[in-house]
Amino acid sequence: MPAGKLQVVPLGGLGEFGMNCMAVRWGEDIIVIDAGLMFPEAELLGVDIVVPDISFLLENRSQVRAIILTHGHEDHIGALPSVLTELNVPVYATEFTLAYVENKLEEHGLLDDAQLIEIEPGKRFTVGVFTINPIRVTHSLVDCVALAIHTPIGVIIHTGDFKVDPTPTDNRLFDLHAFAEYGKEGVLALFQDSTNVERPGYTPSERAVRRKFEEVFSMTERRLFIACFSSSIHRIKLAIDLAWENGRKVALVGRSMSESTEIAQDLGYIDIPDGLLIHPGDIKKYPPNKVCVMISGTQGEPMSALSRAAVDNHKHAKIEKDDTVVLSSRIIPGNEKGIYRMIDHLFRREAHVIYDDGSNPPIHVSGHASQEELKLIINLVKPRYFIPIHGEYRQLKRHAELATSMHGAVGSVMMIESGDILEFDELGARKAGRVNVGRVCIDSNSMGDVVEELIIRDRRHLSEDGIVLPIIAINKLTGRVEGPPEIVTRGFAGVGENGFMEDARNVVVNTLDISSAEEKADYGVIKEKIRQDLKRFIVKNTSRRPLIMPVILEI
Ligand SMILES: [Zn+2]
Ligand SMILES: [Zn+2]
Repeated sequence: MPAGKLQVVPLGGLGEFGMNCMAVRWGEDIIVIDAGLMFPEAELLGVDIVVPDISFLLENRSQVRAIILTHGHEDHIGALPSVLTELNVPVYATEFTLAYVENKLEEHGLLDDAQLIEIEPGKRFTVGVFTINPIRVTHSLVDCVALAIHTPIGVIIHTGDFKVDPTPTDNRLFDLHAFAEYGKEGVLALFQDSTNVERPGYTPSERAVRRKFEEVFSMTERRLFIACFSSSIHRIKLAIDLAWENGRKVALVGRSMSESTEIAQDLGYIDIPDGLLIHPGDIKKYPPNKVCVMISGTQGEPMSALSRAAVDNHKHAKIEKDDTVVLSSRIIPGNEKGIYRMIDHLFRREAHVIYDDGSNPPIHVSGHASQEELKLIINLVKPRYFIPIHGEYRQLKRHAELATSMHGAVGSVMMIESGDILEFDELGARKAGRVNVGRVCIDSNSMGDVVEELIIRDRRHLSEDGIVLPIIAINKLTGRVEGPPEIVTRGFAGVGENGFMEDARNVVVNTLDISSAEEKADYGVIKEKIRQDLKRFIVKNTSRRPLIMPVILEI
């Protein structure tokens, strides 16, 4: 075994949902697997996306040879524009993934300078000291690969996202043989997707939703609206096939839906018969039972086509009594409120709404492997080291437990999180320190000048004087303030001083006391009053000007 150390450093996605990114290093060569984003949680108001802190890569920029993508989901490619802006290295990905990447880079004006290299499952390529073999896997998106990486001290396998779907709609099969071959030859380490480790059994095939879709198509007497992720190519294909069989024209509403369908059509994943597609503006020209509208916005995003249609505010997509709306997607944790609000609006329009409520046959199936599939891959690969990836801490932990229980198939199980350096050499594997990781928030600068000035002013406040968040809990039903207000601060210098926080809290209490019930019911007004009073107090006592953002919690 050659002397030297192999380092694997996750820069995101281990211990958090999304933002998948992992560096692999031997000597002077670093390759990066995936560069994903994370959608911001509700508390990060005004932030569009969150990307991983890549200072580790920037500090070693001369050694970074390439970024290799497993598939085209945002949590794997969404950080590319920001990463390539700082570090323009070659990007390797399959044909379909590259098509998404091209669109994305084009939007950011980065396409001309990007070095995009197409890879194919089963065709090995070399980057620095590494030889990489992409292995075809199945997932909710098409053209996805796992990566077998040949390093000087052995092969490591990164599964990417996957489920073992024996009947994918594109008939491009999961290459179980490749995993088995590697298992026979010996694998140093397996890094496996943990997303669905809490689910027993097997994840159903993409074809499993066909029964429910057929039922919906045969029962629906009026307009049929189908929403799914624009990247759910299997789902879009199914809907288009069934629309054709049932004599319905198809309209694509929403930019992401039409772009994604176009890519899938160009690359031969979806076959759209001539004359089937109609322009959204022509929906009203057809009888309601002759139209199927594919529409984007499954997560209740306020500006999405479906959200607007739900409140009768979409130019072309009008939802009327007895129309049917299908949400063929999962409810992403954190989005429940927005999604159910949208579903409520759809019910108010007296539409039939079909969403993933656990009933059978399913209207949606997951794209990630359940326990039995995870075990199957572990059994085939029989790695010396097993490392769970892609998951929150609880999921990584449960995945580690699952692997630990598989005596005979796994040598040892290692738990690492984003930032940990996992080191392999002739003596074995161990954690060997940490690198800086974190979340970088990015907002779009598409707003007008005035707002931009505001943003800059806010940023200046933040960097110089920190932030103060008075949090007030108001009972939604009675309008009463519940309990004493809380004040949270970050980077604000006034904090440690004696009784300061107590006094600040009293300022907020006082403002609430002297405000009328009507003022308290209007959150805009009450927030502004609190901000003004607190600002006066803080400036007087600390001569600092932190950003003050009152938060009203409805309980
Ligand atoms: Zn994925
Ligand atoms: Zn993912």
